Amino acid sequence: MHGSSIRGQLSILMRVMGITGQPPHDNESAHAEGGLSSGSVFDGQGRGQTTDVGWHPGVRFILVLVVVLPILATGVFTGSGVASGWSFRQHAQVVANDATQLQTVASARAQMNPLSVPLLTLSYAAQLGISEPVLDTLFKSAVPFRVQLAQETARIAGFPTFSSTPTLRADVAQLQALIPKVMANTVSYTAAHAFMIKMSADIDDIWYRDYNRLLADISTWQAPGSFVVHAAALRQAYQAFLTGGHEVDGAIYVLEGTGPAGAKQELIQAAGEFDTATSEFAGHLSPLAQAAWSRLQHNPADQHFAGTIQQGLTVALDGSPPPFFGNLAFAGSSMAPGLHYLADLNTLVIAASQDLHNTALALASSATHRLIGEIVFLAVLILVSVGGVIIAGRVLTRPLKRLAATAVQVHSGDFEVAPLPETGPREVVTTTAAFNDMSSTLKAVETTAVALADEDLSHLEQLSPLPGRTGRALQASVDALSLRIRERELQRQLLHEAATHDQLTGLLNRAAVLDHLANDVNRRREAGETVAVLFIDIDGLKPLNDTYGHGVGDTAILNTGLALVEATGECDVVGRLGGDEFLVVLCPEHSCDGDAAAENIRHSVSRQSIRVDDRVVPLEASVGVALTQCDSGTDPMKLVRQADEAMYEAKRAARAVRDRAASSFG
Ligand code: GH3
Ligand code: MG
Repeated sequence: MHGSSIRGQLSILMRVMGITGQPPHDNESAHAEGGLSSGSVFDGQGRGQTTDVGWHPGVRFILVLVVVLPILATGVFTGSGVASGWSFRQHAQVVANDATQLQTVASARAQMNPLSVPLLTLSYAAQLGISEPVLDTLFKSAVPFRVQLAQETARIAGFPTFSSTPTLRADVAQLQALIPKVMANTVSYTAAHAFMIKMSADIDDIWYRDYNRLLADISTWQAPGSFVVHAAALRQAYQAFLTGGHEVDGAIYVLEGTGPAGAKQELIQAAGEFDTATSEFAGHLSPLAQAAWSRLQHNPADQHFAGTIQQGLTVALDGSPPPFFGNLAFAGSSMAPGLHYLADLNTLVIAASQDLHNTALALASSATHRLIGEIVFLAVLILVSVGGVIIAGRVLTRPLKRLAATAVQVHSGDFEVAPLPETGPREVVTTTAAFNDMSSTLKAVETTAVALADEDLSHLEQLSPLPGRTGRALQASVDALSLRIRERELQRQLLHEAATHDQLTGLLNRAAVLDHLANDVNRRREAGETVAVLFIDIDGLKPLNDTYGHGVGDTAILNTGLALVEATGECDVVGRLGGDEFLVVLCPEHSCDGDAAAENIRHSVSRQSIRVDDRVVPLEASVGVALTQCDSGTDPMKLVRQADEAMYEAKRAARAVRDRAASSFG
């Protein structure tokens, strides 16, 4: 019984037992609990029916949803941090550029001072009609003014950023046109002086314009507070540099007594502004600027010149006569330290600009590092998350897919499924283990049903009891069937017993003993073994019947049977052929000595005398032996006939002996 017929029987059996539910109810519940994209239910006829249960998101989709969305949110959050970091970096870069520009302009402004001195001195001397050699002698100038002017002119050409704006480019062009005129004494001191003042003012305007741009960029950038303080100090430093220039001019004019009319006032005002500007330095200067300011304050030459300024200021304030009146040598000897003093003030400005530049760049750089860190973090986060989702998806979906595929197989009625590996997350392992148990139970149900259908009792007895309602129902079926089979077997055995045994003696009947002989001969043919058959007939049963009745005759038959069993071995077979005739088939071990067996039988029968009332009736039997070596021509029935004939001969001989004895006594 195989294939669909088994499943058909199983289905019918399960339906009869009520294991499969009624179609409408089960369909509804299966539909309600469906979790796959398509599901199947039993239709109550043993067939699977695929039902569309709508769209359900897969495990990986859910993972993406619950893992990737928060990651995206984190990414957006980090992304906005990256954007603001980027903006911070860009602003810092802009401010660093502003600081560089301010530094360039301040450097340009510093160039004006050493250029002004020879240019204005030469034009002023020319206006007064003083020759250059006399001028150089009067001012005790180590380097002739003309040479100084030439050197400074060359420096203008080598300073490209000097003319970085249209205004300055125009100024530089005018300056370069002015210098040859000064050299050729074709320009007045007043015009030259006015131009230098204008050009200085232009540079200052540019510096302040750039400084305001720096302030605007700083406020957009939202730079650190210390940065703002240092930027303010830069402005004070530039202010100190400019007022320092006025102090230098004013002090020399006042001490020499040859300056313009407002020189004293200019000096007093410049000194006030200088003090105001520098008094705010304390704690506000950036590191490089602070170092430059300290150097300036402790440098002996600068200190000396500060003393000169102080002397000029004293003269300006108390109205005392200029101590170096008309002493051009004083002016000459004061110019170099004055320029040095101004150069150091300019160094302070440049140092402050450099500080701002460096700080802004450092902040931009750290912002860049932070940005890179955040981008790397974001990238790693995305990689780890996506990798995690893929791995988790595989860990989850692989066993679930296996489970789903095997469930579909089981659903289609194929219970021959290998146990699924119980791997994956704990819940999946638990589900898989339960599924394995379920499929093995279904397989056992199928096996039991097949065994029931085959009525294979020995197989059924070996099966382990199944769990649950189905198991109990099947077990009840198994028990009922077992009982029925046993009863049938008993009946069969009884029938067989009755068919093969003699009712009176319990020995094999004629058909059975002859059947045994035929089989025995067949078995012994191949080995060529000897078979011995003994034919037994009770002597004088008829007269016994006639004398004592059939009951005594039956006892004689019964006792003879007992005597035969006693006289033969366990391996020998005894049967009643009918009436008072018996047949003994000796087993191979006893077959060789048939005569001895016959003698045993005779003696055994003769010991079975019958007691009738107070009389003892002797019992005798005649025995004939037929013996042959089995081969293909051996005929069992012929053997029986030979034994019968031998018995007959023995009976006749015995009767003859008895007759002779009777006549001799008679
Ligand atoms: P012999 O000595 O030559 O064997 O003669 P016998 O009297 O034994 O008679 P025979 O063997 O020729 O015949 C058997 C007799 O046994 C015939 C019948 O009356 C009797 N008989 C046969 N079956 C039964 C039986 O089941 N019960 C009884 N009581 N007698 C039977
Ligand atoms: Mg007889």
